[in-house]
Amino acid sequence: MVAALSADKSNVSLSVTDLHKSFGAHEVLKGVSLKACEGDVISLLGSSGSGKSTFLRCINLLETPTSGLITVHGEDIKMSKDRQGASHPTDPRQVERIRARLAMVFQSFNLWSHMTVMDNVIAGPIHVLKQSRAEAIEHAKEVLERVGMYERRDYYPSHISGGQQQRAAIARALAMKPEVMLFDEPTSALDPELVGEVLKVIRSLAEEGRTMVVVTHEMAFARDVSSEVIFLHQGLIEEQGSPAQMFNDPKSNRFKEFLSTTR
Ligand code: ADP
Ligand code: MG
Repeated sequence: MVAALSADKSNVSLSVTDLHKSFGAHEVLKGVSLKACEGDVISLLGSSGSGKSTFLRCINLLETPTSGLITVHGEDIKMSKDRQGASHPTDPRQVERIRARLAMVFQSFNLWSHMTVMDNVIAGPIHVLKQSRAEAIEHAKEVLERVGMYERRDYYPSHISGGQQQRAAIARALAMKPEVMLFDEPTSALDPELVGEVLKVIRSLAEEGRTMVVVTHEMAFARDVSSEVIFLHQGLIEEQGSPAQMFNDPKSNRFKEFLSTTR
């Protein structure tokens, strides 16, 4: 169903080419490329330390890539190198704009604890998208209903469950009307009984044709929902393909081994 939505490959939402990232002498990403067309759901798999979070953080410019090209809906992110050879985005306004178009959902929810669910959701639209408070609240109602959290809009994060916090965080991401949603292990911090309610929301977003890159250890999710699966190993793409190919006929021994530890 999702694959059918992405059949038109002319509309590239996000393209990453040959991304490298080092921390000091440690090269964490060694040339990773990815292309997400509108409606694609790309699952990013890999063992702990393989560079998945760093990759998402570089796409979102929470980390500065050492080299590589990131293009969001046809707009190249402008980078320049300083005298030490470290690269930096050159245009702060572009960084803000790109970040707003690439909403990130974190493993640990990252809601502002001193703000209600509603205030968490409207902050970005007011401060970044420059919506009026009334406009932001109107749209927040829609996205909170979408994730089943409108009734909890006046709660503080500490007074709701982890699953509810994560659904609120997804609503906050949706409120930014992002081009692409980036999920970094959105269910890994949840008690097992709360995983289902969050996966259900992410699945429904995938089914309505949203473009997303999802780092996950939920193999059933990756198999059923993705249009493409990428397996990262030590900062390189070890194998990538359709979920059918990846799960029914994996080629790489490392990926086979990974699958055997997660099933
Ligand atoms: P994953 O999300 O796949 O578990 P990460 O991207 O978090 O992997 O980490 C990949 C590697 O990069 C790890 O060895 C980690 O220690 C290192 N790393 C991540 N962030 C930093 C940082 N800010 N400074 C130094 N090393 C880092
Ligand atoms: Mg990680």
